[in-house]
Amino acid sequence: MKRILIFTAGFGEGHNTAARNIRDGIEFLSEEDTQVEIIDLFDSCYGRFNDLMRKAYITAINRTPKLWQGFYNLVNNTHIVEANLTSLARMQKAMEELLVEGQPDTVVCTYPIYNFLIEEIYKNRPRHFSHVTVVFDSISVNSLWYRTNSDFFIVPNDETAQVLRQAGVADDKLKVLGFPVQLDFANPVESYSPPDLATGGHPRILYLINSGKKKAPSVIEKLLEHEDWELTIAVGRDEKLRQTAIQITADAEDRARVIGWTNQMPKLMMTHHLLITKAGGATIQEAIAGKIPIIVNQVVPGQEEGNYELIRRNNAGALSEKPKEIVSWAERAFDNNFQLWNLWRKNITSISRPDSSLQIARFLLDQSVPTNVPAEPGEILRAQQPHAAPSAFQPHAESSRSQHKLLICDLHTHTTFSDGKLTIGEMVDFYGQRGFDALCITDHLCDPKRLLGKLVNLTGLVIPPSEVNDYFAAIEKEKNRAWKKYDLILMTGIEFNKDGLTSKTSTHLLGVDLKEPINPSLDLKTTIGEIHAQGGLAIASHPHKMRSVWGKDTLYLWENQDEYAPLLDAWEIANRDDIFNPVGLKRLPFVANSDFHKPKHIHSWKTVLWSEKDPEAIKECIRINRDVSITLYRDHRFGLELADDPATDNPTVASLLDFPSSNSDDDPGLLPGVA
Ligand code: ZN
Ligand code: ZN
Repeated sequence: MKRILIFTAGFGEGHNTAARNIRDGIEFLSEEDTQVEIIDLFDSCYGRFNDLMRKAYITAINRTPKLWQGFYNLVNNTHIVEANLTSLARMQKAMEELLVEGQPDTVVCTYPIYNFLIEEIYKNRPRHFSHVTVVFDSISVNSLWYRTNSDFFIVPNDETAQVLRQAGVADDKLKVLGFPVQLDFANPVESYSPPDLATGGHPRILYLINSGKKKAPSVIEKLLEHEDWELTIAVGRDEKLRQTAIQITADAEDRARVIGWTNQMPKLMMTHHLLITKAGGATIQEAIAGKIPIIVNQVVPGQEEGNYELIRRNNAGALSEKPKEIVSWAERAFDNNFQLWNLWRKNITSISRPDSSLQIARFLLDQSVPTNVPAEPGEILRAQQPHAAPSAFQPHAESSRSQHKLLICDLHTHTTFSDGKLTIGEMVDFYGQRGFDALCITDHLCDPKRLLGKLVNLTGLVIPPSEVNDYFAAIEKEKNRAWKKYDLILMTGIEFNKDGLTSKTSTHLLGVDLKEPINPSLDLKTTIGEIHAQGGLAIASHPHKMRSVWGKDTLYLWENQDEYAPLLDAWEIANRDDIFNPVGLKRLPFVANSDFHKPKHIHSWKTVLWSEKDPEAIKECIRINRDVSITLYRDHRFGLELADDPATDNPTVASLLDFPSSNSDDDPGLLPGVA
């Protein structure tokens, strides 16, 4: 078995993107015997700090670029990081445990701080894995990246290799393999291209509004003055901006469209002629992979300068922050029979590496030769044990799947599609690595006909109505990976928020295992009917008084239970930390869920079923409500800020229920502390 660990940091742009794309590349190329994990130690060791960093970073880089530059220079030109390594002791310990227990063959760092920790951990002992650093800055490379040693440095382009070479990195350590962009750019299935301008196709412009939002309306207006241009405006999660953009483009619906958050960026870039965006590292690299010339409308001093520099040196686009100039650059590109555009296109194509993730994956797989040289006495013991022990990563034999067993389930969870912190992919990894059997994602959907629903639809904390299809598609896309990699049944669900002005007129209803979207404006009974028509479960979410969370109770179903109990499949008897005795006293069918929004919510009430491991069997078990029990799940692993919580002394549900546990030495499949 080959084992590859990828360390990332969730704050900042690029690290996660790079890590995920590399993982996808490895999974695409490798046989089943390869194990690849992404680990964010900042998040698992310093959850709150990490949140702060993310906010501070986003604020700093977008609103106070000068301040960010100061910080960037401080880190670049002083030894502030080296001097403060002790403050990272907790993370170092976590990393040491991971490396010793996990015995990876290759360790990949997409964030430079990890390199300092590896150097520290292996100061006085032999290192038995190959250590690869993935640098994705271009040209302006912070010296943090190369102040420590690493077996190899993967860099996005020759220009960046040159910077590292001049800083003293040996030539044979440098691998120019490109920035790891999404696999879709390599497009093994189908290829996209924009309409041919030479044969009369209209120019298509893709405008990503990720900064400079104040100027955006003016840019859109000026772009619309060209009636033969087609315009796609991507506003991300900014619902207010979306409304503004829709208003401005109302009279030009046939040639302008506004989209929200999308996972179709590769396709969009490959089917447009010109991109307008800021000089974010990942975006610029994706555009290069997609061969789309760029008009850069913002460059944050410090790390983004190199991204733009790459475009400038290769003459593959232009820079302008002023709306008028942005549009006049587009005009010049398309003037004179697209002369300038053709040149930009030719130049950007020459530096494009659409299959970079596959190239990097291939290199990492080649590096990952199991050494079998135990570095420590303890590892000799481990090495002698057969590695065929049951593991969460090895799918069980078909026969064992058709038998009844104890299944741990969480049917009420939220992702970044509404107000959760993890993406769908991250949820699959998070629950999969913990040996869960079934996970239903139930992001919030609001009734736009209700006043509160209308308001909250503007906050971005619920799935915007226009993204519901994307949401279903995104979960569908992960189902196979969840099952193949973790034996985890992933289901699509929705939490229908029907909030009135008082707790007695408010209700949250879970639809579990849905096949397609349901109109959120339907009344409660029709919604339940629709859920049932799709074979799903209708479950009353936190139906009784909550003690632990600030917020309004949702008591409508409870107050009207004579009417609704016959219609509902189950009621939450527990939600995260709360437990609702009356649900038990009334002998109502029950389940318990975490209402997961962020990693620490894993410590919460869960449902345990004695059932066959199959979605239909699981739903039937809940409907009949026999062989259903609940458990208070505590995670035993480090990194979730439970160090001084006495509850961690209790056995975990994993050990009680005979799940594969990361603490047992005979289980090579699970890595500890992955959050
Ligand atoms: Zn709720
Ligand atoms: Zn919820």
